[in-house]
Amino acid sequence: MALPPAPPRPKREINASALDQIEALGIDIRQDHPLANLTTIKIGGPADYFAAVTDTHKLLKLARWARANDLPYLILGGGSNVLISDRGIRGLVIHNRCHAVQVQDAPCCDYPKDTRPFLFAESGALMAGAARTAVNAGLTGLEWAVSVPGSVGGAVVNNAGAHGGEVKDSLWDVLLLDGNGDIQVFRVEDLAYAYRQSSLKQEGGTDAGFGPVLLSANFRLQTGDRDTIRAAAQSFLGHRRSTQPVEPSLGSTFVNPPGDFAGRLIEESGLKGFRLGGIEVSRTHANFLINPGGVGAAAAADVLAMIQHIQTVVARRSGVELQPELQRIGEW
Ligand SMILES: Cc1cc2nc3c(=O)[nH]c(=O)nc-3n(C[C@H](O)[C@H](O)[C@H](O)COP(=O)(O)OP(=O)(O)OC[C@H]3O[C@@H](n4cnc5c(N)ncnc54)[C@H](O)[C@@H]3O)c2cc1C
Repeated sequence: MALPPAPPRPKREINASALDQIEALGIDIRQDHPLANLTTIKIGGPADYFAAVTDTHKLLKLARWARANDLPYLILGGGSNVLISDRGIRGLVIHNRCHAVQVQDAPCCDYPKDTRPFLFAESGALMAGAARTAVNAGLTGLEWAVSVPGSVGGAVVNNAGAHGGEVKDSLWDVLLLDGNGDIQVFRVEDLAYAYRQSSLKQEGGTDAGFGPVLLSANFRLQTGDRDTIRAAAQSFLGHRRSTQPVEPSLGSTFVNPPGDFAGRLIEESGLKGFRLGGIEVSRTHANFLINPGGVGAAAAADVLAMIQHIQTVVARRSGVELQPELQRIGEW
């Protein structure tokens, strides 16, 4: 017999003077704030505490305030790789909208003294927007990212990639608030990059305590022919439009197993178009789970049930155990 779900955990109460202190810095803290609309799949319960920040100084102050008040935090970028539980998130969700992007020469004397330009981006900037800035400046190295949803922070943490490129190929360094509350620069080789992984990736969301906060990143690019770079970016966008669904989703659900494609295995198992609760296996690309009804039409529990169903059917048919690519966060 299945065990009943654990009772919901109580909210960690923050006293009024601590809330006044952060609001005096111009940061608006909301309580029991809905999150579904801040994710690309339009699913997820509320955050106990929530604030959106648009500049890096406020992001720092907020993270440090949370530490001082023992309130675990989670940084939410574009919400394009997280499945937030229906019960929501205990602690503080910081919606990162710090969005400055700039092409520059070597930022200071510690940088290589050749003529290759850098692209500086605050961590809440859209990765696709940062990539477009590079493309429009005739710089090569990030054109693969013009169609990848989410923020620079999410892309750097996840080592996002597409069309044969990935973050680690052009990232030079990052500025971090580390797990001890110190600001540090880390070089790309210090971040243990692997396929969609880095040492910055925190499993467990707010339950993992005070994780590193990525503040900004420097990408090292190469000058090239603007028309050729633009044409490559356009073809990547066109390819995505013709092969991926437009409905709310979290992108690829499962990691491709060695030498094969998760989408092919799911399609071969007859699951294209299969529906469970409000969630459907996309008919356009079987590795995408879509929420056609948007906010309120499907639950995180539907997504999990669908993931388990697909894993069972595919394993039975082809013997392959598919591994989820998206990250589960919140209280389950
Ligand atoms: C339609 C679609 C297509 C996609 N295609 C691709 C693809 O081609 N390639 C690919 O790699 N991915 C793809 N994805 C997945 C997703 O876009 C990437 O993983 C993206 O980089 C996540 O960024 P985000 O800002 O949305 O991260 P979020 O989902 O907001 O967060 C992801 C994780 O990163 C952490 N995080 C975010 N910002 C910070 C920060 N500043 N400091 C510390 N931690 C942080 C969060 O706490 C969380 O743990 C796709 C998703 C969708 C919906």
